Amino acid sequence: SPSPKYVSKFEEDLARYVGVKYAVAIVNGTSALHLALLISGVQEGDEVLVPSLSFVATANAVKYLGATPHFVDAEEESLGIDPDKLSMYLEVVSKIESGRCVNKKTGRRISAIVPMHTFGHASKMDELADVARKFNLIIIEDAAEALGSHYKGQNCGTFGEMAALSFNGNKIITTSGGGALVSNNKEYIDQARFLATQARDDAPH
Ligand SMILES: *Cc1c(COP(=O)(O)O)cnc(C)c1O
Repeated sequence: SPSPKYVSKFEEDLARYVGVKYAVAIVNGTSALHLALLISGVQEGDEVLVPSLSFVATANAVKYLGATPHFVDAEEESLGIDPDKLSMYLEVVSKIESGRCVNKKTGRRISAIVPMHTFGHASKMDELADVARKFNLIIIEDAAEALGSHYKGQNCGTFGEMAALSFNGNKIITTSGGGALVSNNKEYIDQARFLATQARDDAPH
């Protein structure tokens, strides 16, 4: 493994603290989000639902894949995506076509949603998970500001397929610059580790 000893220890400690099986250190939170979206199957031309109230990295990560950020309203109580409005909105603007959520106006697939926990205030994850299930959306959490936050007793970073964390200088803990991806899915984390380390295979001996 290319990870030096202390990085591996950090990853193990982080996974344990968040309450997921796996963590991989990434160069920063933006890159972690980018990889999470890529690995979870967001494709060029897709739309990804992101909160209108967030740091620009949430939308940028979507753009890096050639997908389109589709902004949805945040609500006052949690400062996260409004689950009720989201549900009503998707009823109107989307349709399910062969199991895929499609934007009726643009014809593009809406493949994922990226809830963001603003300033550590947890988004309404149960309600958002219900909407995601109903409309077949992958959940990737932008937990960059939410290490140690929880929703109904469950830690932020454990609700989606994967979650991105940031250790930039303005975050809960910092490595000056840095980030991580956490998940219970080993394949996702292995894939992220591969792509984050120059996509190198072991040389034949
Ligand atoms: C800080 C932050 C990021 C990006 O993290 P970096 O490590 O700075 O790349 C992404 N999303 C949100 C909501 C953030 O606050």
